[in-house]
Amino acid sequence: MEQHKGSCLCGKVSIIVNGALSDADACHCYQCRKWSGHFLVSTETERNEVVIEGEEHVKWFESSERARRGFCENCGSALFFDPLDKNKHSWTGICMGLFDTQNEVKLSHHIFVSEKGEYYNITDGLPQNQT
Ligand SMILES: [Zn+2]
Repeated sequence: MEQHKGSCLCGKVSIIVNGALSDADACHCYQCRKWSGHFLVSTETERNEVVIEGEEHVKWFESSERARRGFCENCGSALFFDPLDKNKHSWTGICMGLFDTQNEVKLSHHIFVSEKGEYYNITDGLPQNQT
């Protein structure tokens, strides 16, 4: 079975994903820029395929009416982007920086480019969505 492992910077939170990861996108929206410190690259997987060890160290911030963001209370690592409507969405987003094991995930496109920072250019040639 496909399995992917990851952890936060301090190691109090670790994850095992027992399933496939989607291609990653880079989100340049205002919220992701604030939260990540730059822009946020994440992959999606089925929530029920994610095992979290040290879940008591995960703090959640509801950044909108639609989603919450999970981070490590100890080291501040950005971990999850999670839709609030669990009936509608079975996926959860995982920040790519967490992964310790090799995987096949590649960045496929950029989103919310209309809100990107002025201080960098996107030069990788991948598709750019304005929203
Ligand atoms: Zn941590």
